[in-house]
Amino acid sequence: MPYPFKLPELGYPYSALEPYIDAQTMEIHHGKHHAAYVNNLNAALEKHAAFQKKEVIDLLSSLSDLPQEIQTAVRNNGGGHLNHSLFWQWIKPGGSKEPKGRVLDALKSTFTTVDTFKEQLTQAGMTRFGSGWAWLVVDRAGKLKVYSTANQDAPVMEGNTPALGVDVWEHAYYLKYQNRRADYLKAWWNVVNWDSVAQSYDQATKK
Ligand code: MN
Repeated sequence: MPYPFKLPELGYPYSALEPYIDAQTMEIHHGKHHAAYVNNLNAALEKHAAFQKKEVIDLLSSLSDLPQEIQTAVRNNGGGHLNHSLFWQWIKPGGSKEPKGRVLDALKSTFTTVDTFKEQLTQAGMTRFGSGWAWLVVDRAGKLKVYSTANQDAPVMEGNTPALGVDVWEHAYYLKYQNRRADYLKAWWNVVNWDSVAQSYDQATKK
């Protein structure tokens, strides 16, 4: 949905991912951090009616078409809005605990085993210095790739479509895990909803 952008409902209680991700972190992350990206994105576009009909994905995939004075705000806050909207889907509770079907086949053919893929995504998250995200993306050629981005930079900015991503900003884990990003990432795998990942992968590969 285009401007005015709205904070999407989480679809599950803030406590639903306990003990892996605590309720207070979820409440602040969704209700304060994500809400701020939405508000700041709307503020950036408020006086630019020509761009208010664009979806956030379209804004991010053609940033250089925007007036220069709002490019950074849209990059940071549009990225923040899009990345978090996807993130809440990928970790919702009650889904499949392991990959299956087409995404499983693709993971095996690219990384040999699911465990090897998990190690690579974890490593990408661990080696992202400062704030950012680690991603599993489908590239323009339809191939799976793992890498990380800084800040709120979104894979769509490089023409890639994310199938799974993990937020490694400190705001995603600091209340419960403090400086222990590795512990957060290890716990995070327990709440990944592979049904949503499969959906993202299917959408990315049917284009
Ligand atoms: Mn975040």
